[in-house]
Amino acid sequence: MDLEFSEETKDLKPSATAQINDRVMEKNKNGADIVNFTVGQPDFTLSEKALLIANKLMISTKGANKYSPVAGIPILRNLIKEKAKREFAGGFFNKNLSEKNVFISAGGAKQAINMLLRLFLNPFDRVMIFSPYWVSYPEMVKMAVGEPIIFPLFSPSGPLPTIDFSRMEQVIKREGVKIIILNSPTNPTGRIWREQELIILGRLALNHKCLVISDEVYDHFIPNSTAYIPMSKIFVHNNFIPVNSFSKTYALMGYRIGWVVAEQKVVQGLTAIQSQLSSGGNTFGQMLAAAIMAECGDEIELMKNQFERRKKIVLNALCNMKINFCRPEGAFYVFFQAPQKNGVINSITFCNELEEVGVAMVPGEESGAPGWVRMCYAAAEQDLVKGLDRMQKFIKQ
Ligand code: PLP
Repeated sequence: MDLEFSEETKDLKPSATAQINDRVMEKNKNGADIVNFTVGQPDFTLSEKALLIANKLMISTKGANKYSPVAGIPILRNLIKEKAKREFAGGFFNKNLSEKNVFISAGGAKQAINMLLRLFLNPFDRVMIFSPYWVSYPEMVKMAVGEPIIFPLFSPSGPLPTIDFSRMEQVIKREGVKIIILNSPTNPTGRIWREQELIILGRLALNHKCLVISDEVYDHFIPNSTAYIPMSKIFVHNNFIPVNSFSKTYALMGYRIGWVVAEQKVVQGLTAIQSQLSSGGNTFGQMLAAAIMAECGDEIELMKNQFERRKKIVLNALCNMKINFCRPEGAFYVFFQAPQKNGVINSITFCNELEEVGVAMVPGEESGAPGWVRMCYAAAEQDLVKGLDRMQKFIKQ
């Protein structure tokens, strides 16, 4: 029998980052030596302190093997409520916030965004995504039977100097955009949206009754000298929904714990979906996340400082290679223009050939920016040096 997939999934593209990462891990397992700058994950393991906490917790909870409440364990929802109160003071979430406004997703920020799209989209509803974008957004929209509308903030030679908001408004009106996905700091460029830009975007969203899903997973990876403001601090309306997770900030990628802060009606909607999709998140993981959030906050700063050092190493090397790149303001990626080889700039070919000489990166085609390449620098320093050295030799060949 010929098994046919549904309309929503038959053309679904797997995450390019995950695909390349899996391939590289497999090759390395079989004896290759490829330094991997693909997937956006801090290279850190849990600290001694976090491991001690985890050990004690595992014993004291007797393995925490029971289902968790679908919307998350109260202690974690409460901690996130406190964070939201602190960080969004002035905005909608300033007021009357309770842990009932917090939803814990069982599959990281990724699942949280998927569920929000599913909660709000009807077939063919339009979702505005700014390019270059995180590889998953367009496919998530399609899975939720919506249509991605890509609005470029980039030209083939690099970031546009300003955002054309009047064009954006025309597109929102023409396409009847229902949801806008904002990601600041941005994967893959590391760009941070300015306060003034957020205000204009927010007014557009309000005027045209759009929901803004604000993906803030990199909100802790911002140098101290750089100004960052989350959208939810500025807006006093309920159509701004922040999403975040433990993956990047606390290097708990594999625990898959994300969260959403929203009005209770939205939390209830997400809870209904999750109750059918997966049930509540991993119980032990949520307990550990709560303990780490409460007791290991100082480790974020250490990790951030390391990333700043690594960023310098990478940017110096790219300057030496005379490569055109977007100077990252936040997150831990550098997005650069694939250098010409034999007169051709094609980042897919560039990444494939680079992988053959032992360095893996993600082509910008996957983020809507052909000719560009994303490198994650949340990798060990010796790997960065080794990988960049290989890349330099490859370019010179
Ligand atoms: N949002 C963005 C912009 C990302 O880059 C990533 C991971 O790369 C995620 C969300 C996924 O986060 P999580 O691990 O919490 O699902």
